[in-house]
Amino acid sequence: MKDSHGRTIDYLRISLTDRCNLRCIYCMPEEGVTSLAHADILTLEEIERVVRIAADMGITRVRLTGGEPLVRRGVTDLVRAIRATPGIENVALTTNGILLPRMADELAAAGLSRVNISLDTLDPEQYAAITRRGSFDEAMAGIDAALEAGFDPVKVNAVVVRSLNQDVLSFARMSLDRPLHVRFIEYMPVGASAGACGCGWGKQDVIASDELRATIEEQACAAGIGPLLPAARHTPEGWGPAQYYEFEGAKGTVGFISPLSRHFCSRCNRLRLTADGKIRPCLFSDDEFDVRAALRSGADDSAVRDVLYAALGAKPDDHHDKVGTERGMSQIGG
Ligand code: SAM
Ligand code: SF4
Repeated sequence: MKDSHGRTIDYLRISLTDRCNLRCIYCMPEEGVTSLAHADILTLEEIERVVRIAADMGITRVRLTGGEPLVRRGVTDLVRAIRATPGIENVALTTNGILLPRMADELAAAGLSRVNISLDTLDPEQYAAITRRGSFDEAMAGIDAALEAGFDPVKVNAVVVRSLNQDVLSFARMSLDRPLHVRFIEYMPVGASAGACGCGWGKQDVIASDELRATIEEQACAAGIGPLLPAARHTPEGWGPAQYYEFEGAKGTVGFISPLSRHFCSRCNRLRLTADGKIRPCLFSDDEFDVRAALRSGADDSAVRDVLYAALGAKPDDHHDKVGTERGMSQIGG
């Protein structure tokens, strides 16, 4: 499936819910979150139908996200159903990891193969401050559970925010002893929070990947770990745009995702489906296409396909450094 800029689109990110068991400062307000009404959220059967039709059109890989996808009831059954959909080769999950100790084994058995766990700090106090509700020990137990369940790769994603002054070397060190792929993501201006969600994105809070890599490398050399080398031996097979490095002898890698400083729009391969059934051609654009109406209209699959093609045709060439979106990351599906 090609979009109007000639890019192959084969990856669908599905938000299962806008709800979350955490309240990360850059993603959701602390209080007063209005969640989608139950009736507005796609049922699991509706999601399965979209996946079946999208797979028929050329989607081969699906990632479940949110909100926190593991708080959605039936997520394991959904993984199993998507995995069994003809044409779908791989199902992945992005999670804050809190529920993984309870769910990792059943998800693996259902056919989930890869997991990204979001964790922004290794300091328990800072973790509590960033997530407002989270327990650092539970998040770390989630990483352990993911490795034990055999997901491959297991990636740990950290959003880097300058004013948070995170200890980035400690993070990078996690790649030394275990097959963990630690990735640093530039802080993106998504949501009205480029003002209103309590944290207020600002350009001054973005650390460009090149600067961050230099900082990590300097600290790693000072600590006797050595430089970051371009990852040659075990770049984790990915669907995304990270650039990977590794310390000599490390079991995992250190990746950098640079949506702002080195944008990868020209290689964009994805569409997004929000929990309330809108296809979103681009994270940064407020354009949405209503697949829920097509699903609930009683029409046949061609109506759904038309919406998917309309969204495909509307994929912009580039995010053009847009700042702010009407919906926040937890509502879009990060
Ligand atoms: N709750 C799950 C989690 O935290 O992994 C899935 C949804 S969350 C919205 C997906 C990812 O988006 C997380 O890694 C989170 O850190 C990231 N994220 C949220 N807001 C962001 C922002 N403004 N810039 C960069 N990444 C952001
Ligand atoms: Fe929840 Fe993920 Fe947003 Fe944190 S980043 S509030 S865990 S959706």
